[in-house]
Amino acid sequence: MSQNCAFVYSEDFLQYKFHDDHPFNQLRVKLTHDLLRTLGALDDRHIIAPRMATDDELALIHDRSYIAAVKAAGRGELPETVALNYGLGTEDTPVFPNMHEASALLVGSTLTAVDAVLSGRVEHALNLGGGLHHGFRGKASGFCVYNDSAVAIQYIREKYGLRVLYVDTDAHHGDGVQWAFYDDPNVCTFSIHETGRYLFPGTGNVNERGHGAGYGYSFNIPVDAFTEDESWLAAYTTALREIADFFRPDVIVTQNGVDAHYYDPLTHLSVTMKTYRVIPRLAHQIAHEYCGGRWIAVGGGGYDIWRVVPRAWALLWLEMTDQADVFGPLPAAWRERWQPLSPVALPLEWDDPDDLYPPIPRRAEINEKNAHTVEKALSFIRRSHSNQL
Ligand SMILES: [Zn+2]
Repeated sequence: MSQNCAFVYSEDFLQYKFHDDHPFNQLRVKLTHDLLRTLGALDDRHIIAPRMATDDELALIHDRSYIAAVKAAGRGELPETVALNYGLGTEDTPVFPNMHEASALLVGSTLTAVDAVLSGRVEHALNLGGGLHHGFRGKASGFCVYNDSAVAIQYIREKYGLRVLYVDTDAHHGDGVQWAFYDDPNVCTFSIHETGRYLFPGTGNVNERGHGAGYGYSFNIPVDAFTEDESWLAAYTTALREIADFFRPDVIVTQNGVDAHYYDPLTHLSVTMKTYRVIPRLAHQIAHEYCGGRWIAVGGGGYDIWRVVPRAWALLWLEMTDQADVFGPLPAAWRERWQPLSPVALPLEWDDPDDLYPPIPRRAEINEKNAHTVEKALSFIRRSHSNQL
């Protein structure tokens, strides 16, 4: 087993909790941790305890007035009308006790992963508690208070001076990270997501390519609703290969939201576990081909916390540690431990059955549309390449 990877983990991740009925539920990290432990694929040597991000670190991205507002809200001292100006207290992102501490821990966890990799202690590090890609400079949004990935990327820029490729495979557009680096040519962002036509946050159009010096360093592939594995993976694979070859990053940061799965209750895509095997495999290859192995991975969305998230995130860790050749039944002890708590039947196997869902009538049309979107997204790179010939 590879010891060259770190798994940043603490049960305190569960403190990031809006309320009992909220779809964002960090129990999924504990379920994944337990699945990997039960499998024997994760042990104490891999685990690193996280730290809280300092106010100065949060301020790499966030406004000081916003940080102060989050602190006051978590103490119950922020008037509702003021809170709403900061995106706090909405249906998506309600106020909860100690929300500053819980949110700063998730950011500090991603910084812990960054330091583990960039100090040379490990090659790859995973923080499943992070991936809160909708957080803005001065505003909470879409279940996200602080944006751990954006803070981590700015931290990498200032502390290590490396060029960063950010890859976001969450079903929602990685808007907060994109806008934070929209004019920065040293940070290249690539987000593949369900089209924003009907889905939050509505952005991530193929024409969002960056601004000023950052023009050409922002890539978006909005795929159609009901997109399946084959078309999703063709788009992801083609785009990530060409973008990596164009940008030649020093380090790769991947956001691994797993809400594009057919079972996810918040989105309308139709990918299966097949996709969640390939996503980390290609990211892993890119990390070694371009970045000397330097790869920081974070979690993200994922709202079927029983049937989808534990398997998909376990496969991410298994890929990182060169143990991805697991197939067949899930560990029985894990299923027996958690089935009594789950409102749905836990899956029996690592992979989904071929007949997970009925055939999609518009398949050909959807695939054709996605292929056209990939063409548009990469036309900038392809044009500049042909100009050099
Ligand atoms: Zn999402």
